[in-house]
Amino acid sequence: MNKKIVIGILYILTTLIFLSGCSKELKPVEESSYMLGTYLTIKLWTDHEEEGKEIIKKSFDRIQEIEKKMSVNLEDSEINKINHASGEDFIKVSKDTSEVLKKSLSYAKISRGAFDPTIGKLVQLWGIGTDSERVPSREEIENALKYVNFHRIKEKNDDSFQLQNKGMRLDLGGIAKGYAADEVYKILKEKKIEHAMINLGGNIYAVGNKLDGSSWKIGIQDPLQKTGTHMGYLEVSNQSVVTSGNYERFFVQNNERYHHIIDPHKGYPAKNGVISATIVTDKSMDADALSTATYILGVDEGMKLIESLENVECILVTQSQEVYVSSGLKKKFNIINEKFHLKD
Ligand code: AMP
Ligand code: MG
Repeated sequence: MNKKIVIGILYILTTLIFLSGCSKELKPVEESSYMLGTYLTIKLWTDHEEEGKEIIKKSFDRIQEIEKKMSVNLEDSEINKINHASGEDFIKVSKDTSEVLKKSLSYAKISRGAFDPTIGKLVQLWGIGTDSERVPSREEIENALKYVNFHRIKEKNDDSFQLQNKGMRLDLGGIAKGYAADEVYKILKEKKIEHAMINLGGNIYAVGNKLDGSSWKIGIQDPLQKTGTHMGYLEVSNQSVVTSGNYERFFVQNNERYHHIIDPHKGYPAKNGVISATIVTDKSMDADALSTATYILGVDEGMKLIESLENVECILVTQSQEVYVSSGLKKKFNIINEKFHLKD
C-alpha cells in the first residue's frame, strides 16, 4: 500500500478513537437520604451511572459513620460517652471526633465563646425542634449557663477528652454537618468527580464548576419567606456555602420567635438583629462553625471576625432587611429582591 495512504488511514483511526473517548457524555446522578437530622442530597456528574451511584452510597455510609460518632441523639455516640463521663473520666475518641472537637475549640477561642461546643445543656433545656420545646424559666437558664464553658474541656494528646464539671454536655450540631460535607468532598475527589453539588440540609459544597465551565449559582434563602424563596444568589466555584438562619428550627410564643442558635453568654436564642449568616470558604467545617458564630456575634463583631480571616467571606442579613457583604464577596453576590438593601 502507498505509504501516504497508510499514514492517512492511521490518522483517521487515531482521530476516531480520540473522538469516541471524548464523546463520553457526563450525566447527573442524584440520591437523597435523611441523616444528621436533615435531608441530604448529593448530585454528581459522571459517564458511568452505576459507579456514580456507588460513590454516593459510599458518601452516605461515611456520613452515617460520622453521625454514629458525633450525634447527641444516639445514646452510645462518642460525644455522649464524653457527656456521660463528665466530671469523672477522660474518654478516648476516634480521629474524626477528635478533629471536630479540636476545631470546635479553636472556633470557640477566636469567636470569644460565641461558638461553644459545650452549649449542650442549654440546647437540651430549650429543646427547639423537639417535642419538649418551651421557654425555660430564668432560674433554669441561670442554672444551665453554669455548665457552658469551653475552657472546661480538657484534652490529652492521645485523642481523649474530658468535661471537667459533672452535667456538662457537648453538642456538635453547629459544626458536624460541615465536617461531613468535607469528608464527602474527599470521596468525590478520590473518585475523580469534577462536577458535583453536596447539599447536607443547606450546608452546601459546590464541587468544581458547572458542566459548561461556568460558576455555580447558589440561592440564598430569604429568611422572611417560605423555604425555597431566595433573596439573592452567589456565584462560587469549588467552595462551601453554609447558612445559619432563625428560620431553620424555631417555635413562636407570644409573637416571639425562639430559634436554635443559642447565645452561650446569655442562654437565650441570639437576638441582635441578624436573622441569617452565610459563610463562603474552602472548608465546609470552617463555614459551618463560623456561620453559627457570626450569627451570634452580630453585624459589627461578626464582620470584624470574618474580615480578619484569610479566604473566608460572609453575607449577614438583618431583621430590617439590610444586607452586609464582606469585601471579597461583593462582586459575587447579587440581590434579587429589592426589599433587601445592601449596606457598606
Ligand atoms: P447551625 O444551624 O449550624 O447554626 O447550628 C445550630 C446548632 O448548633 C444547634 O441546633 C445546636 O445543636 C448547636 N448550637 C446552638 N448554639 C450554639 C453555639 N452557640 N455554639 C455552638 N453550637 C451551637
Ligand atoms: Mg453551623
